[in-house]
Amino acid sequence: MPANSQLSKVVCSHYLNLPQGGLCQVTYVWIDGSGEGLRCKTRTLGSEPSSIEDIPEWNFDGSSTNQAQTANSDMILEPVCIFRDPFTLDPNKLVLCEVLNQDRKPADTNHRHTCKKIMEKVKEFHPLFGIEQEYTLMGTNGHPYAWPSNGYPKPQGPYYCAVGADRAYGREIMECHYKACLYAGINIFGANGEVMPSQWEFQVGPCEGVEIGDHLWMARFLLHRVCEDFGVVASLDPKPMSGNWNGAGCHTNFSTEATRAEGGIEHIEKAIEKLRMHHIQHIRISDPHGGQDNKRRLTGLFETSKIHEFTAAVSNRGTSIRIPIQVDQNKCGYLEDRRPAANCDPYAVTGAIAQTCLMEEGEEVDVLCELDINEFE
Ligand code: ADP
Ligand code: MN
Ligand code: MN
Ligand code: MN
Repeated sequence: MPANSQLSKVVCSHYLNLPQGGLCQVTYVWIDGSGEGLRCKTRTLGSEPSSIEDIPEWNFDGSSTNQAQTANSDMILEPVCIFRDPFTLDPNKLVLCEVLNQDRKPADTNHRHTCKKIMEKVKEFHPLFGIEQEYTLMGTNGHPYAWPSNGYPKPQGPYYCAVGADRAYGREIMECHYKACLYAGINIFGANGEVMPSQWEFQVGPCEGVEIGDHLWMARFLLHRVCEDFGVVASLDPKPMSGNWNGAGCHTNFSTEATRAEGGIEHIEKAIEKLRMHHIQHIRISDPHGGQDNKRRLTGLFETSKIHEFTAAVSNRGTSIRIPIQVDQNKCGYLEDRRPAANCDPYAVTGAIAQTCLMEEGEEVDVLCELDINEFE
């Protein structure tokens, strides 16, 4: 067990319960230079903020997060979204921030900036997104939590949505994270055990526009923080174990006012045709490394499609896009994009879906990714 998870939680709770004299702790949370790591730091405010305007901008050392050089290291934290802090409790806050360079331009891994512009342009369509975040519990040694140290657990089959000590490994983490999300104010939809042992999923949404990215990133922060207390690590690697084990995705469900209305299936089919035309771009933004991480996962096996093929079907989990069975029956609802990897940036993924499906050709706000057709042939 790692040292920090052995510190006494009983001793700790004595200090956490001390009165804090009307002051407020605010923890600023941001995405670092890797595009997948989260960082945080805390400061005291004189009173509880009642809205985002009450939270001052701040800065941090970008040379320690792969975001700047030592000689010119200050980066700006611009608060964008407030949540209640489920660790130190009310009135304390967690605040998601955008990272800006000194010239106030978005940092390289700040995809929220472009996503927000796109969502603003398409807001009359009232796009809703729901994301399924899969993750794998690991020991700090990188070995899956509760797997035998030599050899493997029994093959996949009994673990998905399982109950029982021989098949549900680490449920406490899923449940503590779920409660933490509810307390914080995250629009968490549900959670379940996954196909690979020690793999779990939670869903966020439906949320409109840029809010899905805000809520998913903060839900990830809560997950890493809960895991820290237990001395385990939540890996978002899209294929943590090679061989006959499922990978981990971030299925992204998408609808608009038109797809949700009676007969909306026709608009879902139109959206699928547009997604087909832009398949490679969507693969490029399906993980922080231009699709390279996701290559290990999108093999056409283990409930995935092949990375270089675009497919869509009702109720089929081996496709790029799945139409859920109720949507086919009701002739309206949403589609599921099964391609994004567990470590994707939801701002990039939802921004790209909105751009592809809801904007005219040439109307693009900013380039979310460069196109290189040959990369996945
Ligand atoms: P799956 O059957 O693929 O495992 P889940 O039950 O895990 O599906 O997740 C369903 C997801 O669909 C949730 O994230 C939810 O927020 C989302 N969702 C539900 N309705 C809509 C909708 N109208 N538009 C967009 N997303 C939706
Ligand atoms: Mn799911
Ligand atoms: Mn799943
Ligand atoms: Mn799914």
